[in-house]
Amino acid sequence: MAANKSRVMHRSLRETPPKAVGGDGVWLIAEDGHRILDSSGGAAVSCLGHQHPRILAAIAKQASRIAYAHTGFFSSEPAEELAERLVGHEPGGLGYVYFVSGGSEAIEASIKLARQYFIERGEPKRARFITRRQSYHGNTLGALSAGGNAWRREPYAPLLSPSFSHVTPAFAYHEKRDDESEAAFVARLAAELEAEFQRLGPDTVAAFIAEPVVGATAGCVPAPEGYFKTVREICNRHGALLILDEVMCGMGRTGTLHAWEQEGISPDIQAVAKGLGGGYQPIGAMLASGTIVDTVRNGSGAFQHGHTYLAHPLACAAALEVQKVIAEEKLLDQVKERGRQLEQRLTERFGNHRHVGDIRGRGLFWGVELVADRATRQPFDPKLKLHQRIKSAAFAGGLGCYPSGGTADGQRGDHVLLAPPYIATSGDIDMIVERLGAAVDSALKNIGH
Ligand code: PLP
Repeated sequence: MAANKSRVMHRSLRETPPKAVGGDGVWLIAEDGHRILDSSGGAAVSCLGHQHPRILAAIAKQASRIAYAHTGFFSSEPAEELAERLVGHEPGGLGYVYFVSGGSEAIEASIKLARQYFIERGEPKRARFITRRQSYHGNTLGALSAGGNAWRREPYAPLLSPSFSHVTPAFAYHEKRDDESEAAFVARLAAELEAEFQRLGPDTVAAFIAEPVVGATAGCVPAPEGYFKTVREICNRHGALLILDEVMCGMGRTGTLHAWEQEGISPDIQAVAKGLGGGYQPIGAMLASGTIVDTVRNGSGAFQHGHTYLAHPLACAAALEVQKVIAEEKLLDQVKERGRQLEQRLTERFGNHRHVGDIRGRGLFWGVELVADRATRQPFDPKLKLHQRIKSAAFAGGLGCYPSGGTADGQRGDHVLLAPPYIATSGDIDMIVERLGAAVDSALKNIGH
């Protein structure tokens, strides 16, 4: 990191990161020529790696025709084709797509559509949302209010607190009691959710919002078996919607196009982004059920929401090509196969590591959690900023990964998230784990372990 001479407001206002000047599949190239193996696709974004020629060509082709036309007047060919591809066969009853520019916008749209749906049904009281502690749903105020991640929320408190309340996450490593079976854990979480509905008044709750596999804030945490079926039943019983946030875990990342396919349920509304456009253009989307959209269509007739860059033609053209490549090259099979390899390698390298408490994930979406003490699951002191040390050591060793940690309440520790591109080879996977192992050990040594 260089001293800060930049006029760009970077995340850190004290340091300017090096410039990325090129990309080549799973590799990122920095201005000094340093090649970085991108093991997390940024933040689970670059599902096809960098500079994929088909995506670049699709963007150029669309740009040569029409780059932008306001959606108040026009639709576009790529938007129509992409929507048809995503929901033309109505997966799980999701029949319509609303294209936005990223994940937070997709969550905001989801919250507002849920509210509008109930208003149009004559149930305006349904304005509350139940979500989970330690989830992340984005950084705009509504999405941040929905999220349960303490350190991101606290600087902006009180947020939109009355509308959002939080229950315990389905995070077995930290929340399941040692003497409790998985089924008993699920039953306890269900009882807590039911109690929250009762506390708020079931007819005031619009929706429950959750990530099927919790991403950045917890490090790839899938729910225990049966959890989402139970949640779906509770929402149904109370007439509330289920909104699933697949911004990070969706679009093939876990081995199926939608992570919810592995849970035996489907949502009423779903948010996707990141892997939708693979980072080639800023794009996200809200997928909504036919029932919801038809209710609004037959009521006021319009979703009272919009952004200038809705369904941007270049973004839709890029995402359309990304999705075509994934389907034509059968990359979800690759995600499953390489995912098994990644799990195996992580287990070999870290399974007996005295500071690795948990290795968890699905498909090509894995988290490694570091603990000071395996027996008690005690995290490292957040002040040590172990995750940042791992990130720096990895970067110096030619690996880009996504470490995170040190929540404000200090209860949860450091973890590293891995989300390699779907095109990663077997050799890439081996190299990722080898480089990560070296970075973790070097960072631990740095803090005297
Ligand atoms: N939801 C989840 C699960 C995410 O992981 C993220 C971003 O990391 C968001 C929402 C917000 O997406 P964006 O950063 O594109 O606004």
